Amino acid sequence: MENFALRDTLDQPLKEGEIRVSNSFFSVDPYMRPRMDEGDSYIAPFALNEPMTGAAVGRVVETRSERFKVGDRVSHFLGWRDVATLRATDALALPAGDLKDEYFLDVLGTIGMTAYFGLFDVAQARPGDIVFVSAAAGAVGSLVVQIAKLRGMTVIGSAGGKEKCDFVRSLGADHVIDYKTPGPFEDKLRAVAPEGLDVYFDNVGGEQLDAAMGVARRNARFAICGMIGMYNSDAPIGFSNLFRVISMRLQVRGFINSDFMSRRDECMAQMGYWVSQNLIQSRYTIFDGLENGPEAFFSLFRGGNTGKALVRLGA
Ligand code: NDP
Repeated sequence: MENFALRDTLDQPLKEGEIRVSNSFFSVDPYMRPRMDEGDSYIAPFALNEPMTGAAVGRVVETRSERFKVGDRVSHFLGWRDVATLRATDALALPAGDLKDEYFLDVLGTIGMTAYFGLFDVAQARPGDIVFVSAAAGAVGSLVVQIAKLRGMTVIGSAGGKEKCDFVRSLGADHVIDYKTPGPFEDKLRAVAPEGLDVYFDNVGGEQLDAAMGVARRNARFAICGMIGMYNSDAPIGFSNLFRVISMRLQVRGFINSDFMSRRDECMAQMGYWVSQNLIQSRYTIFDGLENGPEAFFSLFRGGNTGKALVRLGA
C-alpha cells in the first residue's frame, strides 16, 4: 500500500483531437501485478512515479474532436483517475442504451473476449467436452463456466471457500472443488472427473495446472490464460505431471485477449445476444472511490472478489 500515492493534478486545456472523460468505473486486474516487475513481457512494465493505467468507462465531458460529443459513453485505457484526458482515437465508442457501464469492463469488454476466445478458439472446446476452469468464481472464470454450459459442455470449476463454490454451482457448473480444503488437489479433481479432462482453462497455474496435466485425457487442450497463484511468488515451481504433455499429446497454448482484437465484433455479437437473453449473469465486487483502488487491486490476490472487481468513481 505504501507504494501507492493519490495525487491531484490540474486539467490542462485540451489539444486538437483530444477528449476529456469523467470516469464512472475502472478495472483492477491481476495482470497489473506482473507489470510491476521489470523484464520481458507482452506489455511494458508500469513506470515509477507515473499514474497507473488500465481499462475504464466514462462519459465525455469536454471535446475537441469530431468523433465524440459531450455525454457520449466511451471506454479507454486511462483508468486509476477520476478524469482522463486522451486522444479521441484512443477511445472506443460505447452504445448509449440501458446496459450498465459495468458490463463494458466485463462480459462486453476484454474479460468477455478472454473467456470466449480462450475457450472456443485456444482450447477448441466443443459440445460434450469435459472442461475444468480454475478461479471459477472470478471475472474470467465465471464467464467460462457459463458459456461452456451454454455450448453443452460438462463443467468443473474450482474456487476458494464455500460461498464462492456455491456461486459457481449457481452458474451451472456440474462439479465444484474448493481448492482450499485439505488434501492433494489432484485427488479432488480425479474424483469428479474419473474419465479425465478434455479441456483445462487455466487461470491460476501451480498445483491446479499440475493436477490438470495429471488428469487430462489424450489430446486434451489447455488454454493458459493466467497464473495468478504464481504472480506474488519467486519460488521455483515443480510440476510432477509435466511428462504427460508428451505421453498424452497435450496441446498447451498461452494467449492474450488482444491476439483476437480483429475478431472482437464476433465475440461481442455472441456475448451481447446471451446477455440480452439473460443467459449470462454478471456479478461485481465494487469498491467505491479512487482512494480504494489499491485495496481493490490487492484484494484480487486474497480472493476478496466474486465476479469482476471494479472501482466506482463519483458515486
Ligand atoms: P479474478 O476475478 O479471477 O480474480 C482473481 C481470483 O483469483 C481471486 O478472486 C481468487 O479467487 C483467485 N486467486 C487469487 N490468488 C490465488 C492463488 N494463489 N491460487 C488460486 N487462486 C487464486 O481475476 P480475472 O478473472 O481478471 O483473471 C483471472 C486470470 O486470468 C488471472 O490469472 C489473469 O492474469 C488472467 N487473465 C488473462 C488474460 C489474457 O488475456 N490472457 C486477460 C484477463 C485475465 P479464489 O478466492 O477462488 O481463490
